[in-house]
Amino acid sequence: MSTCVVTGGAGFLGSHLCDHLLKAGHRVICLDNLETGSLRNISHIRDADFVFDNHDITEFVRIEEPVDFVYHLASPASPIDYQRLPLHTLKVGSYGTHHMLGVAKQKRARFLLASTSEVYGDPQIHPQPESYWGHVNPIGPRGVYDEAKRYAEALTMAYHRQQGVDTHIVRIFNTYGPRVRPHDGRAVSTFLRQALQDKPLTVFGDGSQTRSFCYVEDLVRGLIALMESDAHLPVNIGNPDEYTLQELAETVIKVTGSRSEIVYEALPVDDPQVRQPDISKAREMLGWEPTIGLEEGLRRTIEQSGVERLVGALD
Ligand code: NAD
Repeated sequence: MSTCVVTGGAGFLGSHLCDHLLKAGHRVICLDNLETGSLRNISHIRDADFVFDNHDITEFVRIEEPVDFVYHLASPASPIDYQRLPLHTLKVGSYGTHHMLGVAKQKRARFLLASTSEVYGDPQIHPQPESYWGHVNPIGPRGVYDEAKRYAEALTMAYHRQQGVDTHIVRIFNTYGPRVRPHDGRAVSTFLRQALQDKPLTVFGDGSQTRSFCYVEDLVRGLIALMESDAHLPVNIGNPDEYTLQELAETVIKVTGSRSEIVYEALPVDDPQVRQPDISKAREMLGWEPTIGLEEGLRRTIEQSGVERLVGALD
């Protein structure tokens, strides 16, 4: 049996990853300080091979037992969170990533960094291939997140090239599914919360900006395939089906059968105009592509989360 460390394992993506790894027969050590995650995301896990350690990874990390895989997901991830926690976000990307790469080096474990499509900033080419270096504002409100992830990528490549650590970097595009937080400020969770209460859906700007939405099951499959591959340079994982925010709002209204109307609010600073992954590399190197479309993914999210959780009635 191999042992996986998952940082941020009590978060949205991390908790789904823990579920999959346990199901595949791995032992899982989840490190999380519950800053944006929740014990509720992992409270269903009743497995002797699951260990939860409430630990802040910006502090030194010591793990006594052998480790085979380090999945490094810990980081505030939604704009609401990283703008509330700007210094913490920079520290997780820098000190936290240092500590986890140190663990991987010491244990001779494989390492995967959860990076983000935000490293492309407000992209000037479309769709975005991994070879694009990005168009990022380092000093804007999103800079703390974008630059933390760019630094984490640089650090990961340095550990790979200079220290010989078996590293992998995934650039994750917008992902949704059960356990999204109703008030995390992201489009899917916000629209679902509003639509399920027949409240107006608040679209930023005129709703013509685009995003692509990946269902969490597809994403997690991609993370594991990448960790098990020989790909050391960054790989995009996301769903290339592209929607305007207006189309997303209309789809959420359709799937929920809501009576909500759509209203328009000011566009946030540095909001990217377009976002669509070029996933040729993931297809070729990992044989990976998403299989769950938006309507199906939204239905599964509602079914598995339940309306109460999606509207925040349990918070
Ligand atoms: P999340 O906020 O639900 O999960 C992040 C987890 O990290 C939380 O459980 C939080 O408590 C934990 N954490 C934060 N700081 C920590 C610290 N110092 N020590 C230990 N734990 C800490 O977010 P998520 O959506 O699950 O994102 C997970 C990862 O995937 C992040 O690295 C994020 O940047 C990346 N990502 C997510 C998306 C997405 O659409 N969800 C897109 C791109 C990248």
